Amino acid sequence: MTELQSLGLRLSDHRAGAPSRRGGAGPSDHKALVVDGTTVMVPVHTHGAYDSPFRAEVPGADGNTVLTRDGKPVAIVRFARPPRFYALQTGDGVPYWQIATLHGSDVLATTVLQTCIRYESRKRACQFCAIGQSLAAGRTIAHKTPAQLAEVARSAVELDGVRHMVMTTGTPNKTDRGAAVLCDSAQAVKAAVELPIQGQCEPPDDDRWFQRMKDAGIDSLGMHLEVLDPLLRARILPGKADVPLERYRSAFDAAVAVFGRGQVSTYLLAGLGDTTAALLSECERLIAQGVYPFVVPFVPISGTPLEDHPAPAADFMRAVLAPLGAMLARAGMRSTDIKAGCGRCGACSSLASFERSAGAQSTVALQGLAPR
Ligand code: SF4
Repeated sequence: MTELQSLGLRLSDHRAGAPSRRGGAGPSDHKALVVDGTTVMVPVHTHGAYDSPFRAEVPGADGNTVLTRDGKPVAIVRFARPPRFYALQTGDGVPYWQIATLHGSDVLATTVLQTCIRYESRKRACQFCAIGQSLAAGRTIAHKTPAQLAEVARSAVELDGVRHMVMTTGTPNKTDRGAAVLCDSAQAVKAAVELPIQGQCEPPDDDRWFQRMKDAGIDSLGMHLEVLDPLLRARILPGKADVPLERYRSAFDAAVAVFGRGQVSTYLLAGLGDTTAALLSECERLIAQGVYPFVVPFVPISGTPLEDHPAPAADFMRAVLAPLGAMLARAGMRSTDIKAGCGRCGACSSLASFERSAGAQSTVALQGLAPR
């Protein structure tokens, strides 16, 4: 899985499985693939993917297909099926798939505001982000209203059995930084259907927003550091770096006090320049603070300034994820305990599988069964 996510996948037919996500906020240009019962998001539209040694044919009638590496079969895999709710549209004619999409196998994901103050100028925008591309291409709408989100969420639960929801947003201002629009959206969804929700925004300027978000129905919260080194932050996320790391740290403390240990998480993009040692020492600090560090391989999205930046090598990812999985297992912080969101879904990283194998090894050791 780690190698597939680093190298990407060549497809003999891009129509296989559910439509892939292109552009948008955060990681993108993937397709959901079920490998060994685990859903992973695998880059298929990146430049690197076109040269990948991995290739998959169109699935047969049973939905399965053979994954080959350098022409040799390595696994039977399955593409996630297009969800039923994609066929519906709102009364005023907006297709549901422009309002929210299926991520992984059971996550409904939406970008409430598809615009961002950081994206107004390419000089200030996060260099990896494609939030404006999907909007420009007509694949989404600029503002998903609370009523639209509630309608789509209800259908996605009823028709496709989605089990949790990710609500992210472009940053609309320098004050609440998206917390207010997340509150309105979560309240409407929770009034329509019981669905655990993760909100994702930059740290708001006032810690009182954390309780407001919780009261509105947000169950877990993501505030994403993405990159750690201050010089890299200034280069790769010049606008977002206006919010200093110290504010992230104080916001994590305040948010953990409201949402609970392990219900606050942060995305760290591996492969953009932070070293293995820097990533692991920050992860140790985050775990001690009660924050789940969701480390994902950077995906160079076509059309962004970083489209030619190489994806991290699988060896680099393993060097980060294996010790991190062990750290999480030791701390008893499990992705499966997260109520909603990216850490619980886990499809954009192979972290959860390292976490599981580290957890299994420590159980065996505790039972005195470990090989000596
Ligand atoms: S980890 Fe997050 S961004 Fe990735 S597929 Fe899951 S919900 Fe979507």
